[in-house]
Amino acid sequence: MQRERHCGIAWTAIAALMLFGWATTLGSVVAVQSESPARSQSKGQNSGVEKTQTKVVLLGTGTPRPYPDRSGPATAIVVGERAYLVDFGPGVVRRAAAAAEKGTPQLESSNLKIAFLTHLHSDHTAGYPDLILTPWVMGRTELDVYGPEGLEEMTKHVLEAWRRDIEIRTTGLEQRHALVVRARDVKPGVVYQDERVKVTAFRVPHGQWPEAFGYRFDTPGKSIVISGDTSPSEEIVAHCQPCDVLIHEVYSPESVLSMPDYKTYRAKYHTSTSELAEIANRTKPGILVVYHTAGRGPHGRIPDDQLLREIQKIYLGKVVIGHDLEVY
Ligand SMILES: [Zn+2]
Ligand SMILES: [Zn+2]
Repeated sequence: MQRERHCGIAWTAIAALMLFGWATTLGSVVAVQSESPARSQSKGQNSGVEKTQTKVVLLGTGTPRPYPDRSGPATAIVVGERAYLVDFGPGVVRRAAAAAEKGTPQLESSNLKIAFLTHLHSDHTAGYPDLILTPWVMGRTELDVYGPEGLEEMTKHVLEAWRRDIEIRTTGLEQRHALVVRARDVKPGVVYQDERVKVTAFRVPHGQWPEAFGYRFDTPGKSIVISGDTSPSEEIVAHCQPCDVLIHEVYSPESVLSMPDYKTYRAKYHTSTSELAEIANRTKPGILVVYHTAGRGPHGRIPDDQLLREIQKIYLGKVVIGHDLEVY
């Protein structure tokens, strides 16, 4: 039987339903039928006995600026034995491997099977080829990805860009199994549900992006809201009423950017420390975890304690500046 490369893009927005994907075989496109992620992923597991303990692992807390201690934006929600990623900034797979070594084996690369994307900005997606290819080479069988409009197109191009690698790995002496990637452009609402987690996408305002999402994860143990990149968002306030963990981006008004009118840009794309403090006052999360911390002041990198002070002038609840590989 001829070995095929199932670089599929599923076009349905409803994850829980039976999916019809498209499997491309180096240019040819054939329709294949596949099981719902929830059903296929539950195979071989001890139903009902798996623990559902939830933890949040910060894999990347950075921005486009390549600070070596802040990898590109990526967050893992780990529920029992399963891991769910939000965003795949540069460095995502190696940070996940580091987290696995530090005590979260659910983040070994072969377990990176489900991911959600907030938006297509490069700092959140430059790790996509890594997420698609590296775990596959390490033995992962399938990857399901959910995100805003444009994700399917990006997936198609990534697979095409690495077409020769995929061909040699699958037809050559390595004899890798087929690469299966199901990417779905989804609309706001519940975009994924299985026995451990319900994932709700909601729109956030992020400048000129036509669609950017934040996500709320509801697990048996926790409710977690993650902002992605956003200017102050009423949707975030609405989705954290309450929530246990609010993971939110921020910038200090004292930081500067190398663009002509960065203040106008920032007002439309991002959230300042004082704006975040107001949001925290309106949502009162169990803990506010600040990530995607920008940026540089006139005298260099803005220190964490300054960001914290700026927030705590207005918000008196529990707040931390997140760092790569921390667990909440
Ligand atoms: Zn970003
Ligand atoms: Zn962005």
